[in-house]
Amino acid sequence: MKATVDPDLCTACELCTETCPEVFEMGEDIAIVKVDPVPPEAEEAARQAAEDCPAEAIIIET
Ligand code: SF4
Repeated sequence: MKATVDPDLCTACELCTETCPEVFEMGEDIAIVKVDPVPPEAEEAARQAAEDCPAEAIIIET
């Protein structure tokens, strides 16, 4: 599974870094994905982060 953050949509609210710190961290201006692929044990949290993202900026590809 691959996760990406759309830099044009992310509002840097930091929610994803709280929901799934294994995958998301704050970059200079926006959240960034620090692992590719997403480790299996973090997939559920990554999906949750994508669902919860208020800007719908997280793209999940399987
Ligand atoms: S939850 Fe969405 S808007 Fe908030 S920091 Fe993460 S990717 Fe950006």
